[in-house]
Amino acid sequence: TDSDSSTSIDTAIASVKGTALQFFKNGDSQSTVDPKSCCTWVCWKQECYISTTAVGFRKNDLEVLIDSLRENDLLHYSHLLTGYIGSPSFLQKVASVVKELKSNNPKLRYVCDPVMGDDGKMYVPESLLPIYKETILPLADVITPNQYELELLSGRSITKVDDAWSAIESFHEKGCRTVIVSSSTLGGDNELIALASTKKDGKTTRAKISIPKLDAHFVGSGDLFAALMMAWLYKTDDDIQHSLENTIHSLQAVLTRTLSHALVMSKGDRPTPEQMELQLIQSKSDIESPSPSVRSTIV
Ligand code: ATP
Ligand code: MG
Ligand code: MG
Repeated sequence: TDSDSSTSIDTAIASVKGTALQFFKNGDSQSTVDPKSCCTWVCWKQECYISTTAVGFRKNDLEVLIDSLRENDLLHYSHLLTGYIGSPSFLQKVASVVKELKSNNPKLRYVCDPVMGDDGKMYVPESLLPIYKETILPLADVITPNQYELELLSGRSITKVDDAWSAIESFHEKGCRTVIVSSSTLGGDNELIALASTKKDGKTTRAKISIPKLDAHFVGSGDLFAALMMAWLYKTDDDIQHSLENTIHSLQAVLTRTLSHALVMSKGDRPTPEQMELQLIQSKSDIESPSPSVRSTIV
């Protein structure tokens, strides 16, 4: 891990090109992390995950990374997870990377978290939407929109759970096998509803779970949701019900711990963003071994 705060993206790329590749080749568990969270690469034995975030990480940087990996015959991955992407050209490049990775490994799983906005507000340029709809959706094996992103991608307004199911079905028809709605306000006032749907051999399986709503705003909960869902879908062989239960259990543990810790630190005042940093390390065992108390229902 590179924790030198002066590390630039060029150094991060150089380390991916250099020593890190050695670890990748040997299949050891290693990661290189740019401190400005420009890019994160995690590689595990046999199963390799690429995670990119677009903060300060430009399309050209992604091209250099991919070119270096290709030159070293290292473009062989089992999973790709993408999150926030802020520019259309970057998203187009991601689409071409997905195609290349899938041609190298037809079983590659592409999990797309189509981060575009929340609560009726878009926080990326609108020009990303048609690319997500037309290019990314058909390439994604799993997509994890929130309620607003579901509305944007389907072009429908979602006011009932049935609206959500039909929007989700339209994604299946476009070729996306598994759709998970990370949260919606389609339930009561004190709950969030998450939905999951997967289509295999023409048969759709759907699951729904109620999440007790905490009175706080968290940053990073969506990223954690997508990452845990990807891991559990893999570990359970696409059992959406158990994947959803385990993911929600871990999230509840992390978020409850985060909020209690923040309130202690702020002595009851409104916590600062630093105080609200997710208590991930402290929640290690809740992430590794969830024991869900809230059950999902198969719909
Ligand atoms: P982000 O703003 O981090 O990108 P998102 O809108 O993509 O978030 P959400 O659907 O809001 O992601 O949150 C992901 C998960 O985090 C939800 O499934 C839920 O389990 C949990 N979560 C987020 N906010 C709350 C909350 N206020 N109370 C309870 N759980 C929450
Ligand atoms: Mg949200
Ligand atoms: Mg999200």
